[in-house]
Amino acid sequence: MAIECSVRIRRIPGYPAAGGDAHDAPLVRLASNESPFPPLGAVREAIEHALISLNRYPDPSNSLLRRRLSERYGVPISRIAIGNGSCDILLAAGEALLEPGAELVYAWPSFSIYPHLSASSGARAVTVALDESERHDLPAMLREITVATRLVIVCNPNNPTSTALPLSSIADFLAEVPPQVCVVVDEAYCEFNQLDDPETSVAMLEEHPNLVLLRTFSKVHGLCGLRVGFALCGSSRLPEALDQVRQPFFCNALAQAAATEALAHEDAVIDRVTRTVAERISMQERLAALGIEVADSQANFCWLHLAEDCDEAEIMRGLQERGVLVRGGRALGSQAPALRVTCGLPGENERFLAALAEVLAPATTR
Ligand SMILES: *Cc1c(COP(=O)(O)O)cnc(C)c1O
Repeated sequence: MAIECSVRIRRIPGYPAAGGDAHDAPLVRLASNESPFPPLGAVREAIEHALISLNRYPDPSNSLLRRRLSERYGVPISRIAIGNGSCDILLAAGEALLEPGAELVYAWPSFSIYPHLSASSGARAVTVALDESERHDLPAMLREITVATRLVIVCNPNNPTSTALPLSSIADFLAEVPPQVCVVVDEAYCEFNQLDDPETSVAMLEEHPNLVLLRTFSKVHGLCGLRVGFALCGSSRLPEALDQVRQPFFCNALAQAAATEALAHEDAVIDRVTRTVAERISMQERLAALGIEVADSQANFCWLHLAEDCDEAEIMRGLQERGVLVRGGRALGSQAPALRVTCGLPGENERFLAALAEVLAPATTR
């Protein structure tokens, strides 16, 4: 007889794995929005240096990393939270803010972790459809806020649709949200967003104590294998609450050392962003030339719509047979066949585009 689990286990959706870990051929990994660039030399050195003291527990208050983030963003240390990846901060925020009877508002399709927050807490999830350009519909989200709402999540740029809203619309939205409702703006991809400078949202924290900007070292810094993210908050209330619900040593010593060092190499980050954005623009143009509808990406990935009569699973299989891993849209909440494709190195994108053209060819000549 199987062990008996809590009821909430039945509500929590499983995260679809990208697959491909068992292959040994060189795969083109464009399924998880990872950075194609390996960690910087100086970051690797910082990790090696930290290895010597692994017999000690990590700093539970992440003081050096928070100090550097505070210097970098001009946000007081008490208003900065660290997490074992930014997903850890999201899940802990769910635990700290939600409970049965409470409500959570987010757009859909959006980041696949958000449904976990309601499922694990027993709160009610209110999902709001994206608008026709696949952006968050903030006026509609505002209409869903009730006295029971504790948390609203805005993913900007949005995963999986890659689109972003101008920060001015988010500012207008924040002006209307009741002050007791926490608004998390998930900015995992903000460095790739060309609509606004990522510093602009930081300035909004001064006016909105209920605002939380969620950032990560996983994407632009290429450290997703280590797990470290952070939140810049409008007040110290959420960082304090997060510490209450989590284990003390949630961020390991290597992650703290690597993230701290990564912050000292802004020039390299800018260079990588420039290269990724150039690839994104080229990929969008070449997809459009194949007759494929592509969303206006402001992230390090593209979101493409396949023809309505297209079998998404078959396209994925065809790409996989050619050694290219991407993410299918249906598993990410899309009603119509779609693909989410990370912008990799030029050669990787080349392989993806060639494979896609091949896989689509029989369908178009049919
Ligand atoms: C990748 C991603 C994150 C980052 O998750 P980590 O736990 O920091 O690796 C957060 N939000 C969104 C929308 C993402 O796509």
